Amino acid sequence: MVHGLSTFPTKPWRDRRVLELLYVDEGLTQREIGEIFGKAKTTICKWLRRVGIKTRGGYTNPYSDGPWTKKDVLEELYIEQELTQAEIGDKFDQSPRTIRRWLHRHGIETRIGRPPGGEGSSSLYYGPQWPQQRARVIDRDGRQCACCETDRDVVDPDLNVHHITPAREFIPDDGQPNYEAMNALSNLISLCPSCHSRFEGNWQDCTPDEFARRAKLALEPATRTDRSLATV
Ligand SMILES: [Zn+2]
Repeated sequence: MVHGLSTFPTKPWRDRRVLELLYVDEGLTQREIGEIFGKAKTTICKWLRRVGIKTRGGYTNPYSDGPWTKKDVLEELYIEQELTQAEIGDKFDQSPRTIRRWLHRHGIETRIGRPPGGEGSSSLYYGPQWPQQRARVIDRDGRQCACCETDRDVVDPDLNVHHITPAREFIPDDGQPNYEAMNALSNLISLCPSCHSRFEGNWQDCTPDEFARRAKLALEPATRTDRSLATV
């Protein structure tokens, strides 16, 4: 269980296992990893070095014609042999990103965040729309924790956006993840890290409003004087 993460780290971009999975195995760029976690590319670069992961240099001929551009070759290596994008890239001296681009171009669904045999790591990658959805939810929730109402500016390091019905529920064992349902606004809520760890796994089938209502009740009496409780 090389990539299994039994618990999701609080600052995943500092976690060697997370960085290895995303950067080494799946070949995301530093910028793409930064987007997932709402961090700058330079932050990701710094932590890659700090945890001892060799950063990639330049590659040549990313668009040139070669076996890695052929659908049947990619299907054989990626689907049948279950090689990672990085492993396929190594075979042809191409970057993992180039491989991913060709996989997408041929309509081959990438299994990023879901390595073979990996347990619990399926929540790592939430699909291409995740950064936008994450930003929308934070705006919708007034840029504060929807439960304790701590403002984003004082949350360290940043607000989390929580999947009420867990992301893994939308990732079938043998099919394509349903990112649209996974990241529907009705399934997402902004939480500070403290509320996130406190309420993780709770109330998995309710709306964001209902989740916040129940969380506020659970936070009583700490927030008893909060005027938002007047209607509860
Ligand atoms: Zn909170």
